[in-house]
Amino acid sequence: MSGECYSHFNGGIEYELRCDRCGTLFRCGDDSYFSWRVLCAAAEAEGWRVGPDLEGEHDCDECAGSRRAGSDRRQFAAA
Ligand SMILES: [Zn+2]
Repeated sequence: MSGECYSHFNGGIEYELRCDRCGTLFRCGDDSYFSWRVLCAAAEAEGWRVGPDLEGEHDCDECAGSRRAGSDRRQFAAA
C-alpha cells in the first residue's frame, strides 16, 4: 500500500497516504495532500507513524499505537 500520488487534470499532484496494515486512508481537512512532506507531517500530528519516503512504512494512529505498546493498550481498555 503506502503512499500514492496522482496527477490532476489541472497539472497539480495529489498524494494519498494509506496505512500499510489496515488500509485506512488518511484524510486531512486542508490542502496538505498537495505536498507529500506536508501530508506526512499532518498525519504524524494525528498519531500516524510515517516513513520519509512514498514507498516507506506508514501506519495509522491505531496500528502505530498497537505496534508501539500493545500490552499497555489492552490494560488500558480493561481498566
Ligand atoms: Zn492502520
